[in-house]
Amino acid sequence: MSATFDHLADAILDGRPASPEDALKVLRADDAELMSVVAAAGRLRRAHFGNTVKVNYLVNLKSGLCQENCHYCSQALGSDAAILKYSWLSKDETLKQAGAGLSGGASRVCLVASGRGPSTRDIDKVAEMATALKQDYPDAEICACLGLLKEGQAERLKDAGVDAYNHNINTAESHHENIVQTHTYADRVNTVEKAKGAGLSPCSGLIAGLGETDEQLVEALFALKELGSDSIPVNFLMPFDGTPLAGSWELTPARCVKILAMARFVCPDREIRIAGGREMHLRSLQSIALHVANSIFLGDYLTSQGQEAKADLEMIRDNGFVVLGSEEDRAQRAADPAIRRRGAGTDLLPNA
Ligand code: SF4
Repeated sequence: MSATFDHLADAILDGRPASPEDALKVLRADDAELMSVVAAAGRLRRAHFGNTVKVNYLVNLKSGLCQENCHYCSQALGSDAAILKYSWLSKDETLKQAGAGLSGGASRVCLVASGRGPSTRDIDKVAEMATALKQDYPDAEICACLGLLKEGQAERLKDAGVDAYNHNINTAESHHENIVQTHTYADRVNTVEKAKGAGLSPCSGLIAGLGETDEQLVEALFALKELGSDSIPVNFLMPFDGTPLAGSWELTPARCVKILAMARFVCPDREIRIAGGREMHLRSLQSIALHVANSIFLGDYLTSQGQEAKADLEMIRDNGFVVLGSEEDRAQRAADPAIRRRGAGTDLLPNA
């Protein structure tokens, strides 16, 4: 049976993509086969991302006080979760927070604000922050996550230096109205399309553990593949007290690894990011999950605390990975053989 996953990896590496049936098999693999699943998915991970881990850093620009009713969200209308609530951070505070993540090893900063979507003034604020960030950290990637976009807003962000836009589809279209009623699945897809249309790298992912079926998880992943999401954050529901999904515990660490592996099989060359709920749900399997996923958030999440950034960086090193863009990463790239482009077989003089 375990050869099945290896054959599946062979087929994918040969250019024959995984089918929804393949994805279901991965999701429903017996726990005894977990390491075979990881080994096969790990081959795809290494084929596309080598031993690098992309490190991302969240800055919550505006926390809580949202008028939408996403049942999973501690910042939603009606949520009694005892989270930090504040309105917009200043530009200086944003630069300070982002700088901490970048000096900690992050290569991407995610500027996030709660709410249905940004006003023109909000876009101006984030554009100003992005421009200042790029001045101070020209190599940093900036991703904005501000909710549903209106016409022209994605272009404005792009012009200001924003590289990517995050808007998760969160769950399958067939399950969406069970988890939020104040906006539609189509609204979400429309925003991802707007971001793409403006030349921003689309970042869109999902949340597992929302009461969806296995088939709906597969449906969501194939939808993300279809949407062309460049990076796919996979969140595991953190059932905050005071939200409608409080007390909802559907995930085991092994299932979380299988979900990440399924994402890798379906979208082999996309950034698969272990997002919210990593510590709570993967627990001691976090490092195994890194052999499948190639990206994590460093440190804290939007409203919950993550493990110490130092522990994240240690986990990356201990498992033989390097942080993307770090000195170790650059050193190993420098050591790659330079491909000959002169002499025999070319019109250029040989090196002699
Ligand atoms: S729109 Fe965003 S911040 Fe508001 S409730 Fe939904 S997920 Fe939370």
